[in-house]
Amino acid sequence: MRILVANDDGYTAPGLDALVLALKGLGELTVVAPETNCSGASNSLTLNRPMSVRQAANGYFYVNGTPSDCVHIALTGLLDFRPDLVVSGINNGANMGDDTLYSGTVAAATEGYLFGIPAIAFSLVEKGWQHLDTAGRIARQLVEQHIASPLGANVLLNVNIPAVPYEALQGMQVTRLGKRHPSEPVVKSSTPYGDPVYWIGPVGRVSDSSADTDFGAIGRQAVSITPLRLDLTHHEQLPHIRDWAGPLCANP
Ligand code: MN
Repeated sequence: MRILVANDDGYTAPGLDALVLALKGLGELTVVAPETNCSGASNSLTLNRPMSVRQAANGYFYVNGTPSDCVHIALTGLLDFRPDLVVSGINNGANMGDDTLYSGTVAAATEGYLFGIPAIAFSLVEKGWQHLDTAGRIARQLVEQHIASPLGANVLLNVNIPAVPYEALQGMQVTRLGKRHPSEPVVKSSTPYGDPVYWIGPVGRVSDSSADTDFGAIGRQAVSITPLRLDLTHHEQLPHIRDWAGPLCANP
């Protein structure tokens, strides 16, 4: 089993070390991670400059690019083998509901999924690395389960782990994504020179935390496992939009 490990918090993040430590012995691990914290990078690729890949003393490769760049470069040029699994994390903070769209952690896993490799993103729900070992144990269990019962190429899992002692976990639950209200407003401030600047505001309040959602599982201290897909087509709206655009779509 060859496992590619990435993250979005950067190659020095404690969550990356925790994931590598947790998976020790399960296969050959190769780490390719961003040089700096890229949280919120989503699926962006760097197209306006070349990137460098360097190797740290601990063997980790690091790239001056995004999480997606890291996995993309690993799969298309850096590695001389095709990994059997891509894992990402362990992220410093939750990636649930709409947040998954912005997540660099999920994006790194997504890049593996796009190349037909099963992929799992791991996030520790509270920021600050409390109970990181709990998330490590869960990551190991899921990768062991994948080894015992392979997921198949077309699988992308988003796993969120409560930041509690392992013994306090209330099991695992397969969930769908919940929903949030729109973000809080940006925070307007100014530079010392009087120019306005804006900080993106905090995430919105949760609007759907039903029992079958990721928010619901985390709310009752269970590990949340959500299978994701990337077909953004709104299939149910196809008939309505065909009607709406019909006159424009007719042959001239
Ligand atoms: Mn992050």
